[in-house]
Amino acid sequence: MSECRICLNSSNDSALISPCMCSGSIKYVHSHCLQHWLKEKYPNRYKTMPIKTRGCNTGLKCELCKYEFQGKLRFLGISGILKKLKETQALIYIILNVPVVLYLIYKFNYLLRHLLNVSKSHINLIKLQSSGCKKIFMLTKFYIRFLLGLLPVAVFGASAPTIAYSTMVLAKNLISECQVFEIKSISGKMQNQLKAVN
Ligand SMILES: [Zn+2]
Ligand SMILES: [Zn+2]
Repeated sequence: MSECRICLNSSNDSALISPCMCSGSIKYVHSHCLQHWLKEKYPNRYKTMPIKTRGCNTGLKCELCKYEFQGKLRFLGISGILKKLKETQALIYIILNVPVVLYLIYKFNYLLRHLLNVSKSHINLIKLQSSGCKKIFMLTKFYIRFLLGLLPVAVFGASAPTIAYSTMVLAKNLISECQVFEIKSISGKMQNQLKAVN
């Protein structure tokens, strides 16, 4: 009876695959056990793997025989995706972040326009001043006010892209969580052929 080389369980024989050049007692593995192992071993590779990769250059290799696993990345079914969404809070954060980012952009735009309008009228007023001393005093006052007004503009301007970026990263991670790399089983005949080539 064949058993999985990861969980050492022989139950559910139909789920066993032989995905690499390993033979003998370590030939078989459960598809889901291997997927779990690959995710642990290659967390970054798994995330950056292009969707519907044609099964070549996956970069995911068997530790023992160094054979590069073949297969393709596919999305989980609806129930699998729902289960993932339940497990992670990511979707809630993504949904909540969208209005926050929109508000920050709106506020940044509003504050910047307001600051520019106020500055324009102040400069016009200063221009009208005939006394040089008063002009310098007003200009200094204007600069201090301008810099103080610039502070919230900078805060809103900087937080919008920061939150937008982290939301995008969160969304990207969530998408990769909802995908699974389906590894192809290779037949004994193919194993022999590959062995003959190498
Ligand atoms: Zn297993
Ligand atoms: Zn192997």
